[in-house]
This record gives sequence, structure tokens and C-alpha cells, in this order.
Amino acid sequence: MNTMFDTIAAAATPPVPSAIGIVRISGPQALSLLQVVVHPVKGKTFAPRRMTFGCIYTREGLRIDEGLAVYMPGPGSYTGEDTAEIYCHGSPGILAELLDVLFSCGARQAEPGEFTRRAFLNGRMDLSQSEAVIDLIESETKAAAANAAAQLGGVLGKRLSALRDELIAAAAQLSAMMDFPEEEVPELEMQELTARLEGVLADLERLRESYRRGAYLKNGVPCAITGRPNVGKSSLLNAFVGYDRAIVTSVPGTTRDVLEHTVIADGVKLSFFDTAGIRDTADVVEKIGVARAADTVRTASAVLAVFDGSQPLSPDDMLVMDSAEGHETWCVINKADLPQCVDVSALRARFDRIFPVSAASGEGVTALLSSLAAYFTASQDVGESLITNPRQANALERASAALRRACEAAQILTADVVCTDVEEAAGILGEITGQTASEDIIQQIFSRFCVGK
Ligand code: GDP
Repeated sequence: MNTMFDTIAAAATPPVPSAIGIVRISGPQALSLLQVVVHPVKGKTFAPRRMTFGCIYTREGLRIDEGLAVYMPGPGSYTGEDTAEIYCHGSPGILAELLDVLFSCGARQAEPGEFTRRAFLNGRMDLSQSEAVIDLIESETKAAAANAAAQLGGVLGKRLSALRDELIAAAAQLSAMMDFPEEEVPELEMQELTARLEGVLADLERLRESYRRGAYLKNGVPCAITGRPNVGKSSLLNAFVGYDRAIVTSVPGTTRDVLEHTVIADGVKLSFFDTAGIRDTADVVEKIGVARAADTVRTASAVLAVFDGSQPLSPDDMLVMDSAEGHETWCVINKADLPQCVDVSALRARFDRIFPVSAASGEGVTALLSSLAAYFTASQDVGESLITNPRQANALERASAALRRACEAAQILTADVVCTDVEEAAGILGEITGQTASEDIIQQIFSRFCVGK
């Protein structure tokens, strides 16, 4: 049997005791299977898209629960096929039994993401919308959810389809030019076409650029915590996360690897990396830790340079100041609960943002988190849809490169060379929306889904 046309079923809610459990069915047998297991009360029948109350039975007529059910005929359903949903009590036992009945009547257990995959294959959504479904399910902040919801609404797909259409039209125009002898290629037409291609290129580059901000939404803003040993970096991370995620110790140089923890502050996801203390050391293992710390600082979007307020600045503190140079840095003067003797004016000379805190008492920690969140809130403006996934970013990069080649070729070469690059760029954009995506790409995307979605 063509697997596209069989009937699939799965629980859409996790197998934990909960108020309501939901089972979904999709495929040609959706209504007949629904009628086997749910018997509407008072002789009612399942009217399309109407919630109907009924009792739930096994095949042998044993009553297992009662609840609501709905039948949604295709093609106007989520998957584009006939579908049904049953809302019973959220007992793992009831859900398992209900599914057993459906399987014994001919349904097949749905694979991860199979409902959404069918929606894509039946033209109910493009591939970027399907990816937005996972993003929406996994979103941890309001901003991430809003961006995924906009993509699910088709913002990105529509924009890319329009750009792709423009490239296809340009390729057709170039094909027509190929028929002219070289000296007769209308120069004005070529110039006008190049200008249009440059316009598309600028749009693609803007979208690609949005990936950095989009990745903040999904993975968090990478923030490196740096400082010489013993200034309280691990203690600060613990204060941020509110529990002992990092090992806090008074022996210098114990954090030799990089620890990561995510905190959501004022709706912004911040990913903190606690690094080995930066200092001049002869210890081989510690040296590796120090090198990793330097790498973490290099790739971070924010650097928290921590100093011990109860100590004068040391040569190692100078190394920390130098390593933070050129980064968005928050200077943290820790141990505010102890008598202070750090040279604040020396720090002021190097840093604009100075935050006295006590990781031990928690004083100043909220102000520091709020300042970080406020700075990156502007980056999370989701007025236009941001690219959040590496597959899309990579495709945009390749499409831009092909288009850049086309624009350069248009200055010196013939229409056929330009046309090849324009067609390549159009093909790559189709990978994002799914118009030209290979089976492998589609397989990979849907395998990330949960069962029942
Ligand atoms: P790291 O090497 O920079 O990660 O420093 P730790 O977090 O391991 O802290 C080093 C020492 O400083 C430990 O003994 C902590 O208890 C102490 N410490 C950290 N933060 C504070 C603070 O705000 N006030 C005081 N009084 N001690 C602190």
C-alpha cells in the first residue's frame, strides 16, 4: 500500500497522567475508525468540525472512557486528509488502549512528524512553515514563539517565493538573450536586469544577516564569564541560575573546562559560559582551559569581565581587560559585601558598563541580568521574520554566493553564464520553501519532530 494513503494514529500528548489526553488519526479511514471507538451520545453523528461528546469503547464493546471527538474532512484539515481527534482523560493506560484498538482496526502508528510531513506533501504548508512548527513547540520565550508563529503564518515562505519567482523570470529573460548574437545583446536590458538581481541579492543578504539575531532567540545570546581565578565567576553563574550548577571552590584554577547554563531574563534567553580563569600558567591542563576561555570570549556576543572588588588589580586582571577589548563588555566588580579596595577608576577608564555585585548575597545580580537583557531585547525585534535555523542560513549563503557570481558575470560575460548562476540561486531558495528540497533534506527535517505532530 502507498504509505502516503494509509491511516496513521498517535497520541499527541505525552504519556503522563494529565487532565486530557489527545489521540490523532489521519488518512482515509479516519472517520470509520473514529466511529468504531467513539459512540456519540443520544444517537448523534459526527458532523464535520463539530465537537461531539461520546463514550469510548474497545472493539469488543468494553467501555474505557468518555470524552469529546471531532472529525475534520480533507482537504481543509491540518494534514490535508480526513482527520479525527479524540480528547479523553490523560491516562497513559487509556491512551495506550485507545491506540491498540485503532491499530487493531487498521491504523498504523504514526512516525515522528508524520502528520506535519503529510501537511507539507499535500501542499498545506511549505517547508519553512513545517520547520516553524517545531520552533513553535520548542520556543522558550515569548519572542521566540512570536517569531516562529510569524514563520508558521508563511511570512518567510512568501518572501522567499517572491524572490525565487523574480529569479526565475530573470533566468527566462536571460535565456531569450542567449539567442542574440553576442554583439547584439541589448546593453540597457542587461543593466536593468543586473540592477534587479542586485536588489534580490541585497534582500537575501539581509535575511541571512537576521540569522545572528534569530539564533539568539533559539539558542540564547552567548555570554562569556571571564576573569582571573577566584574572582567569583562560578559563584556568579550560580547566582544567575539560582542553584549550584558550577562547582564553587576557593582553589584557583579548578574550572578547567567551559560550563554552560541558560537563563531567561526579562524574556531574553541568555546562555552563560563559565570559563577557566585567565592567568599566566605553566600547568598544561590549565593552559588548555585558558585557551578555551579565550575562544569562548572571542565567539561570545557579550562578555562579563569579573574582578574581585576586595583585591587590588593584579597583572592577571590586566590580561582579562585586554582579552575583553573590542567586545560588548559588562564589567562586574564582585564581592561587594567585602571591604572594597579595587581601583574603580582604572576599570572605568576601560569599561563603560560597571556593575558592583555580590555573587554571595545576590546583591546587584538582578540589575546586571536586566542590563544584559535590555541590551539584547532590541536584537529580538521580530517585526520581520528572523531566520532561526542553520539549514536556512546555509541555503541563503549559497544562494547569495551564486547570485553574487551572476552579478559579477553580468559585467563581463555572456547571458548564458549569468543564467546558470541565477538558476542555481533560484534552486537553492526552493530548498528552503521545499519546492526543490531533496527527499534526504525532508527526511532529516521531519525526524526532529515528536510523534503525534
Ligand atoms: P572563580 O574561580 O572565579 O570561578 O571563583 P569562585 O566562584 O570559585 O569563587 C572563589 C571564592 O570566592 C570562593 O571561596 C567563593 O565563595 C568566594 N566568593 C565568590 N563570590 C563572592 C562574593 O560575592 N562575596 C564573597 N565574600 N565571597 C565570594
